[in-house]
Amino acid sequence: MGSEADIERVLWTEEEISGRVAELASQISDDFKGFPAPIVVVGVATGAFLFLADIVRKITLPVAVDFIRAESYGSGTESSGVPRVSCDLKIDISGKHVILVEDIVDTGNTLSCLISHLQRKGASSVSVCTFLDKPARRQVQFKLVGEGKFYWGFECPEYFVVGYGMDYAELYRNLPYVGVLRPEMRK
Ligand code: 5GP
Ligand code: MG
Ligand code: MG
Repeated sequence: MGSEADIERVLWTEEEISGRVAELASQISDDFKGFPAPIVVVGVATGAFLFLADIVRKITLPVAVDFIRAESYGSGTESSGVPRVSCDLKIDISGKHVILVEDIVDTGNTLSCLISHLQRKGASSVSVCTFLDKPARRQVQFKLVGEGKFYWGFECPEYFVVGYGMDYAELYRNLPYVGVLRPEMRK
């Protein structure tokens, strides 16, 4: 449990991921040029940690980095209710342009909770940059703040995926690629 042998198939390789991350970083660097520095890049813990680390190293503008945590999923694969912020920011974001960095947007519940939270804290704009998007599973249409933009790396088919930060029961986050977990591994 927790190794490469549990992966049914690879959806995006390490090379494909790094190519796409570079494109997103370049898009963000262009879009935010001329905005008051620094932009605040907020990673949603834990799943976004690798994507965040990779993308900030390719953004060519001054950034401040922080993490936020929202809880709704248990250790399983199904959402267990309404998300809430369980670990808040350290940085004061009032009047700042914020980019929320997520591993994957599924129902949209986590994102809409976090966006409202950042808005209440006075962010001038809230953009979202998610590594994967599963638009077919959306239940809540989140609203960006101010001139916020939506960036996504890849559209994800309706599989439960792991790797590149994403877990099942806290395992598989360290795989450098994204793959579909063998269904028999999910209890
Ligand atoms: P949402 O609130 O949009 O339904 O769920 C968002 C969170 O659920 C993601 O940030 C991620 O932690 C988790 N999640 C949703 N789909 C997947 C998936 O296919 N694989 C993994 N590992 N986590 C997922
Ligand atoms: Mg997440
Ligand atoms: Mg998880």
